[in-house]
Amino acid sequence: MTAISLGMPAVPPPPLAPRRQSRQIMVGSVPVGGGAPVSVQSMTTTLTADVNATLQQIAELTASGCQIVRVAVPSQDDVEALPAIAKKSQIPVIADIHFQPKYVFAAIDAGCAAVRVNPGNIRKFDDKVKEIATAASDAGIPIRIGVNAGSLDKRIMEKHGKATAEALVESALWECSLFEEHGFRDIKISVKHNDPVVMIRAYRQLAERCDYPLHLGVTEAGPAFQGTIKSSVAFGALLAEGIGDTIRVSLSAPPVEEIKVGQAILESLGLRERGLEIVSCPSCGRAQVDVYTLADQVTAALDGFGVPLRVAVMGCVVNGPGEAREADLGVASGNGKGQIFVKGEVIKTVPESVIVETLVEEAVRLAGEMGAELPEELRDVVGPTVTVH
Ligand code: SF4
Repeated sequence: MTAISLGMPAVPPPPLAPRRQSRQIMVGSVPVGGGAPVSVQSMTTTLTADVNATLQQIAELTASGCQIVRVAVPSQDDVEALPAIAKKSQIPVIADIHFQPKYVFAAIDAGCAAVRVNPGNIRKFDDKVKEIATAASDAGIPIRIGVNAGSLDKRIMEKHGKATAEALVESALWECSLFEEHGFRDIKISVKHNDPVVMIRAYRQLAERCDYPLHLGVTEAGPAFQGTIKSSVAFGALLAEGIGDTIRVSLSAPPVEEIKVGQAILESLGLRERGLEIVSCPSCGRAQVDVYTLADQVTAALDGFGVPLRVAVMGCVVNGPGEAREADLGVASGNGKGQIFVKGEVIKTVPESVIVETLVEEAVRLAGEMGAELPEELRDVVGPTVTVH
């Protein structure tokens, strides 16, 4: 057998560009900026006042890999829920507050890890910017300034005519200056727009003009498919240039889906260790098996298998073996059978009906050899001894 690549590289590829130098802030236990790994966050969709439902959703997000969670705080009932949520959440909680300074003080007292607030709104409502800067500084918590295309300051909209990249950046830097006046710089910034082109331009400009860590987001990105595309394109362009310290994929879908997409974006760019990767062929007229169904079945059977393995599912014995050999584990199907490859070697040929279970067994075996922890439902899967022919 000729020399072959053995699937996942032992050392991840180098990043496409050096990370932008940003100052570091701490969102609870999670460092953001200053070269810290890019973190993935989401926002709960429950009523924050419903403590149990919110904690349940935070637990699901935590289990899926979410590192920071934001909760909306539009009412006094929500404010009253914050101490319990901040105390019981396993990941840092950011309170999202728009106007009321008293909610900001309450969120800080409640133990939230950060507050998202725009001082421009606060100043209009009740000018307590200085007091907020002091309270956040005393508590050692950062503030996110989140500028959205849909809620730009009227003065800036009049000047720019619409929510251009320049308008978003001007607004964000002006908002920052309201805190800087009081010596507060423990800030991260987002400048969200629903158009990835405008959003990319805005973040590029912002990256040039300040050293605050940047929270990437495409706002109102849309339903899962469209939102995934928009966020992947926008984040991909920026992260490939080293811009971005934390990300939130916004989808009209359950928040756990946002985390899955965010993690996949980081993995694709080599900014996070890759987990399980299913490599499947698109199928063509040569296919001798239903590749789509087979790939879906393998993906479902290995759901939650967080071990960095590349598993190839190929539809024929023409091009299939080449791809299957280059993965850690793979199958090339044909004539009602599947040639199973492990680390480049054909270890056996099995009937089509047991391809999925054989791949799962071998994946579990490989994971065991790597000393990996497996989800409970996969722990008892034990296959026949592997022999390399
Ligand atoms: S592996 Fe075979 S079936 Fe799949 S796309 Fe390539 S040639 Fe077609």
